[in-house]
Amino acid sequence: MAPAMDCLFCQIAAKTIPAQVVLENNEIIVFKDIHPQAPTHLLIVPKKHVARVSELTDEDDGLVAAVHRAIRDLAKTVDPEKKGFRIVVNNGSAAGQAVAHLHYHFLAGRLLSWPPG
Ligand code: 5GP
Ligand code: ZN
Repeated sequence: MAPAMDCLFCQIAAKTIPAQVVLENNEIIVFKDIHPQAPTHLLIVPKKHVARVSELTDEDDGLVAAVHRAIRDLAKTVDPEKKGFRIVVNNGSAAGQAVAHLHYHFLAGRLLSWPPG
């Protein structure tokens, strides 16, 4: 799907809206969440506009792999004293998805309790 210029994360990926970018390649961009819920709170965002996980197709396998490669690389940056991290994907408004462009929250730097809310 073409970038949606009314989509916040498409605009961040296109650099028309600024963000604190920590990692980027052809497939994904990673930037700091504007309202962090943990000392480290990053958003891993595929550059392709996909609204949510449930709209991924088989053609998006490379995109999904790129997200997981980014998670693996970000894991190496986590404080060794607090090695845990959590990936959260909200799918749909009932699950708290506010931005309709697929994104993976990367949360680290504090104790992450279970179950989540
Ligand atoms: P969702 O609720 O859709 O799973 O997560 C959307 C996330 O995007 C939220 O954690 C929110 O703080 C973050 N966010 C919303 N607007 C902006 C923005 O303009 N810049 C950045 N960096 N993050 C944003
Ligand atoms: Zn988008």
